[in-house]
Amino acid sequence: MKFITHSLSVYSVQSVVSILLSRIIALAIFPAKHLAWRVHIEIVNTGTELLLGNTLNTHGAWLGAELFKLGLRVARQTCVPDGEAIREVLVEALGRADVVLVTGGLGPTSDDLTREITAEVLGLDLVQDAAALASLEAFFAIRERPMASDNLKQVLIPRGALALPNPNGTAPGVYVAGRPQGAIFLLPGPPRELQPMFLAEVAPRLRSLSGVAVPPELLELKFTGVGESDFHQALDAHLAGIPGLEFGYCARLGEVDLRLIGSAAALQQARALAMQHFAPQFVSDDGSSLEQTLLRSLSQRGWTLATAESCSGGLIASRLTDVAGASAVFTHGFVTYSNAAKKELLGVAADILDTHGAVSEPVARQMAEGALTASGADIAVAVTGIAGPSGGSPDKPLGTAWIAVAQRHGATRAWRVFQPRNRLDFKQGVSQAALDGLRQCLLDRRPED
Ligand code: AMP
Ligand code: MG
Repeated sequence: MKFITHSLSVYSVQSVVSILLSRIIALAIFPAKHLAWRVHIEIVNTGTELLLGNTLNTHGAWLGAELFKLGLRVARQTCVPDGEAIREVLVEALGRADVVLVTGGLGPTSDDLTREITAEVLGLDLVQDAAALASLEAFFAIRERPMASDNLKQVLIPRGALALPNPNGTAPGVYVAGRPQGAIFLLPGPPRELQPMFLAEVAPRLRSLSGVAVPPELLELKFTGVGESDFHQALDAHLAGIPGLEFGYCARLGEVDLRLIGSAAALQQARALAMQHFAPQFVSDDGSSLEQTLLRSLSQRGWTLATAESCSGGLIASRLTDVAGASAVFTHGFVTYSNAAKKELLGVAADILDTHGAVSEPVARQMAEGALTASGADIAVAVTGIAGPSGGSPDKPLGTAWIAVAQRHGATRAWRVFQPRNRLDFKQGVSQAALDGLRQCLLDRRPED
């Protein structure tokens, strides 16, 4: 026991020295150049289950979003298994950060060591917190459950630290203020405990830290049918010229989000620039997906929509019905995979199928018009294509698809797309092109151009 105490105190002295050294070096290398982001915050997520992949680490994303609202940014997030691994990462994080938020490992079980290791790293004893003990006893008394002796370790708090009340569980949080090490918050693992505790106990303590009167705003503009490199070429140089603006892109199949962070004026300027170049491809500025935006515009017109899908196998209907309230707009989804189904359900003519083949402009047109008639909807979209890996030909290579949009009032439009990708990406790409084609038809644009 004596030996352990001795080796721990040696470790703590070493830790503090290494913390001090690295902070001095960090200050010399990184003078406070990004004023708004000069508060260096790190998150340490603990939990073996997070690294095994069976529990999604939602704390990182949630805390990042909440800190941003306070005008603060997360500089680094590290995820470690339960147990000893936290020690090394805590020493490192304290060497760099003004604030370290540690999540998880405050439970009563033997793998929950966050509290103990933090105390060791800081060279502090653990002492029982009277208020935390009273809350713990009340927690069990209210539920008429006996308290296991193991729970008592949860109310041990590093000397001089503050126990943060946890009205939703047994483990209080811990706040160790102070220097030379950065402030440390230990927060419980379960999201329903961590989130209220952060809002009630951590956010108010951090709010004053950002040092910015008006936190910068975040604007995400979603575009479709245009590549990341097109944005890069058309916009980057101009965006870089807007003072105080931070920007970046997030590309997904068939979509690009332009992320803008800065003052309201900077965002307005950046938005105008983006729209000047890419207004036809603009989808939303409130995080809405293409299908949400489309359903909203259809609903505003009081229109109904039907789909006729071959190669996408119902993916367009699936994406539409992922949106709450789709039933007000979406009436019928025909999945006509075989020629027989195209003839029977949509009235596609046998001779058109024989002459042109299922993947052709005339068949796409007849599918869309057939879906419109059979459903009684105001607008219908149809897709027919070759997903592969077999079935391509020189004039219709794998990845070829025809899309058509038929409207109750207005001419049917049809256009070819070429998406030579693996099967699943092909389906996703074709569904994106079809939804985007609908969007453009509603704006009286010509998707075929
Ligand atoms: P712990 O106190 O670390 O044992 O965590 C208790 C519960 O919270 C477990 O069900 C974990 O899966 C969950 N949990 C812990 N950390 C996270 C995290 N970063 N994201 C989501 N859930 C978590
Ligand atoms: Mg755990």
